[in-house]
Amino acid sequence: MSRYRLYPTPAQEAVLKRYCADARFVWNLGQEQRASYRPGRGRTPGFLMQSRQLTEARAAEPWLGAGSRDVQQQALRDLDQAWRNFFRGTHRRPTWRKAGRHEGFRVHSIPGKPHASWAVGRLNRHWGQVHVPKVGWVRFRWSRAVPECKSYRVTLDRSGRWHVAFAVIPQRIPGPGTGEIVGIDRGVAVSLAMSTGETLNAPLPAASTRRLKRRLSLAKPGSNRRNQARLRLARVLARDKDRRKDWAEKASTDIARRFDVIRIEDLRIGKMTRKPAPKPSPSIAGAFLRNGSRSKAGLNRAILESGWGLFARRLEDKASGRVEKVNPCLTSQRCSACGHVDGKSRKSQARFACTACGFTLNADLNAAINIAAGHAVTARGGPQLGPLNREPLAGAA
Ligand SMILES: [Zn+2]
Repeated sequence: MSRYRLYPTPAQEAVLKRYCADARFVWNLGQEQRASYRPGRGRTPGFLMQSRQLTEARAAEPWLGAGSRDVQQQALRDLDQAWRNFFRGTHRRPTWRKAGRHEGFRVHSIPGKPHASWAVGRLNRHWGQVHVPKVGWVRFRWSRAVPECKSYRVTLDRSGRWHVAFAVIPQRIPGPGTGEIVGIDRGVAVSLAMSTGETLNAPLPAASTRRLKRRLSLAKPGSNRRNQARLRLARVLARDKDRRKDWAEKASTDIARRFDVIRIEDLRIGKMTRKPAPKPSPSIAGAFLRNGSRSKAGLNRAILESGWGLFARRLEDKASGRVEKVNPCLTSQRCSACGHVDGKSRKSQARFACTACGFTLNADLNAAINIAAGHAVTARGGPQLGPLNREPLAGAA
C-alpha cells in the first residue's frame, strides 16, 4: 500500500465526504444482511445478489441514487472480499463501519485499463492528481513514485487528513530456502516473542495520549477547548497508527525474508482458552501494584493486538503459502523441552518452569517454541500440537 496525502478543494471535500458516508451506509447494509444470515434460510447473500438489490434501492431512494454507483458498488465488492478472507481464515470477521472512524471508499479501475494510465497524472515535481468519479481531478502530494495498481482507496482520518492509497498487488518475498522454521507468539507483554529468542516490539502509543485523553474528558462539551483537545488527540492517535503501520511493514518483510516457514497463532481461535497465570499471594501493596500494571497492560495489549493483526496480514501477503496457523490453546502450558502439559508450569506471566522435568524459560519464548513445533491447523481445525523437533518441511521454499 503506498499512501499519499490528498488535498481536495472545499467543494471536492464535500463530495468525498458524501462518498465516505455512502460507502459506509452500503457496507453496513450488506454487513447486516450477511451477519444475520443463517444457513438453511434461502441463499447466502453474495455480491451479485446484493449488487442487484443496490440497483433497486438506488431507484427507490433518490438520495442514494444521487451518489456514485461505482463507489457504492465497490463497497459491496470490498465487503464480499472481507467475508471471503474471513472464511479463508486469513482475516477477522468483518465488522460494522462507524462514522468518524471508518471514513473511506475505494475506486476500481476500468477492466483492462491499468490505473496509472487513466486515473493518475503528474502535475509537477511535488504534485500529482488522481481522478475521482464525478469529482474530477484531486491533487495529492507526489511523495514517491505511484505504482501500477488496480484500485485506490481514499480515506479521511480522525484528525481530518485525507489520503489516497494505491493498492499495490502484494509483492511476494522469497524465503531463504534453508527450510528454517520460526514460531511467533503474541505474548502477554508488549512484544512478540520469536522462537529464536528475539523479540519484536510494536511501537507503543505516545506518552501524551493519556494526558490528552484526560484533558478531553475534563473539557466542557461543545467548548472551544474541547474541540481543540479532540483535534490534538486525534493527531497523536493518527501518528501512532502510522508508526504501527510502518513497524508492521518492516517487521513482516524481515521475517518473510529470513524464514521459510512461519508459524503463528490462528486468529480465529484466539487465546481465550489459555489459562490465566496463577494469582500471587494477596497483599495490599501487591494489589496496588497489580491494578496499576493491569490497566497499563490492558492498554498495551489493545495496541499490540492492532499491530499484530496488521503484521500478520502483511506477513501472509509477503510470505504467501509459507505462513502456517497453529492453535494457540496449550502453547503456554506445554513444556517445550519434554512436552509435558500442565497449567501449573506457568509460574507467572513471565516465567515458565516445567513441573515434570524442571526446565525453565521465559514463558513467551517457551510458547513461541511450541508454536514453531506445531502442526498447521487444517481447514477442519485440528487443534493438535505437533511432535517436537519436527524435520524441516522438505522443499519448503
Ligand atoms: Zn518439561
